[in-house]
Amino acid sequence: MSKIKVIGHEAIRNFLLNSWQRQALSHAYLLLGPEGIGKFTLVKDFAAHLFCEQQSACGQCSACQQVLRDNHPDIWLVERQSDKQDITIEQIRQLHDFISLKSLSGDWRLVVINGAHFLNTESGNALLKSLEEPADKVIFFLLSAEPKKILATISSRCQVLKLSFVPTSEIAKFLQGHGAHAEQAGELAQLSGGRPGTALNLLVQPEEFTHQLDQARLFLNLFNSNGFIQATRYFETEFKEAGTELMTSREQALRLVNIWRTVARDLWCYKLNLKKYLRYQAFEAELEKTSQLSLKQLWRISHLLQEASRRLAANAHIRLTLEWLAYSLGQFKV
Ligand SMILES: [Zn+2]
Repeated sequence: MSKIKVIGHEAIRNFLLNSWQRQALSHAYLLLGPEGIGKFTLVKDFAAHLFCEQQSACGQCSACQQVLRDNHPDIWLVERQSDKQDITIEQIRQLHDFISLKSLSGDWRLVVINGAHFLNTESGNALLKSLEEPADKVIFFLLSAEPKKILATISSRCQVLKLSFVPTSEIAKFLQGHGAHAEQAGELAQLSGGRPGTALNLLVQPEEFTHQLDQARLFLNLFNSNGFIQATRYFETEFKEAGTELMTSREQALRLVNIWRTVARDLWCYKLNLKKYLRYQAFEAELEKTSQLSLKQLWRISHLLQEASRRLAANAHIRLTLEWLAYSLGQFKV
């Protein structure tokens, strides 16, 4: 059985473990940082220490294994259900039932709210009471990649911990430990932009990696003559506008625009001769072509991408928004 391994975040990890050893834990922590940076892993590592029969996150005892497999009876996980817009009040009621019971291991209990920005006014208010009057030996970990969307009443009752990006060299080493060869590890670590979870995902799901590269290429092709037609064909097959597929389509569209924003960032890096910061290093030849774009044009491109993200997040029609974006970007020919 393998152990839980936190990549980076040494200071926050030590802070939590020291607070535990000094019996000075807060009752609620809000962990902030982008998807794939390691928030959930950090909480699992902490939980393994807290519940381990050896108090050392040994990875061997049954408590450690339960934490690893996400089925420890004293950990309660709340996440938005895939068919819902938000975390519901019913989920918070179930959480209160859990808190009102005694701990099965006889000591601590952990509540993990993954995606705390999905708490709406109703479910957030229901949670406030537990945050204001903490039960004995219950610790809350709220996790979010969207700090601006978290209810102020919630964040003000938590100790806020911000996770920083992990150095590329550390991520590359971690990937090599998972079987990547040196060159592949370097490429994926660079592409992950400091997020070890994202890097590992790209390694173990090569189809996801290919998919990202295809979408990135689609963006770069927009600056050629056939790019717009190619893009609209892609949107037609990838983004469904009806029924239960609509919500996942919107999330996928936002992800696509995010990938395009990363490539746009690469255009800036290339233009400003900061090549070592390129995320998509494999596209250097294509980037060379786009270096004809002026700084003013690059600024305009970044602005269009930002506007598309905003529209998609605000429930705009998915395919029309993407087509508008592709058309507008296609005006910048090189
Ligand atoms: Zn253990």
